[in-house]
Amino acid sequence: MIYLDNNATTPIAAEAVEAMLPFLTECWANPSSGYRFAKRAKEAVALARVQVAGLLGCEVEEVIFTSGGTESSNAAIRSAVALNPERRHIVTCATEHEATLAPCEALEAAGYEVTRLGVDAGGRIDLAEYEAALRPGQTALVSLMLANNETGVLQPVAEAAEIAHRMGILFHSDIVQAVGKARIALRETRIHYASLSGHKFHAPKGVGALYVNRNAGFRPFMLGGGQEAGRRSGTENVPHIVALGAAAEAARLHLEEAGGAVRELRDSFEAGLRSLDGAHVNGHPEHRLANTSNCRFDGVDAQGMIILLDNAGVCVSTGSACHTGSLKPSPVLTAMALPARAARESVRFSFSRYTTRAEVDAALEAVASGIRKLRVTRK
Ligand code: PLP
Repeated sequence: MIYLDNNATTPIAAEAVEAMLPFLTECWANPSSGYRFAKRAKEAVALARVQVAGLLGCEVEEVIFTSGGTESSNAAIRSAVALNPERRHIVTCATEHEATLAPCEALEAAGYEVTRLGVDAGGRIDLAEYEAALRPGQTALVSLMLANNETGVLQPVAEAAEIAHRMGILFHSDIVQAVGKARIALRETRIHYASLSGHKFHAPKGVGALYVNRNAGFRPFMLGGGQEAGRRSGTENVPHIVALGAAAEAARLHLEEAGGAVRELRDSFEAGLRSLDGAHVNGHPEHRLANTSNCRFDGVDAQGMIILLDNAGVCVSTGSACHTGSLKPSPVLTAMALPARAARESVRFSFSRYTTRAEVDAALEAVASGIRKLRVTRK
């Protein structure tokens, strides 16, 4: 199998599996217990927090473990509106993940006003338009993702957070897709909240973290036993948190590779594609994650291509896993002004540090053969 769908989920790193196993077999204690048997679990969670903070470039106490990206974004958005109940306006972007769009929609249904910024053909917001959309004293929160899951396009999040800061507005970023793929130094930014998910960088599914800047307030919605310093109640998922820490450490050590070798592979894949007739890459040419290629092939239906590639042993998708099987063209590509037909011809290839050149070459051949079989000539 050739796995080129690393923006959907990633294989679990050997380092992460190795680190978590003792916490499934020998040391299954509740880290909140007082006896010595539990001390190892508590220390392991503490180490994982240091490892995650190391990858994010933030302070250890700014990391809250959660069940993943969706929970983290929901927690941040709810917190921001709870902290400022008199503010009834939210700014986000049309190309955000459902983990942001759905809680914003729920708030809209509850009477909030939501501004969804559009993007240009490259998938990026316009900073002047963004600034004009902010309403000091009225906007409770901005939620803007760092890297898009379908296209890898990077938003100018640091600049946007700076503008929000000047206006006294809280800022959340879904950094799920960027973690482990691009250098992140949260302490150098004005971001108040950031969501991340373990399974996008070689940790298991169902574990993630929320960054909460120490100068930002936080109103938890998970109330209970007061774990995570009262910010996320519920007995800690020790094995998965340990794996998250180990995966974060491995990602930090491989960061150069993620930007270098993975980019080279992706670029050679795109160069190969460009030599094929009627193949195009969607998204900004520079402001894009090094591992993502969202491509379209004129006259070739993406669903057909995905099936042919699957038959050839190559796993890819059209973008958001939640949209697979849906006939609706991708809202992300539609927001980038791609006509519905072109959006339906778009396939996402996403690479990782485990991807090899031989796999990329084999995938290119399978794509070329798929185009020959599927292409319908347009009149
Ligand atoms: N945000 C982005 C950009 C994603 O790609 C995903 C995963 O698909 C999520 C949030 C949700 O993360 P999780 O699967 O951990 O809930």
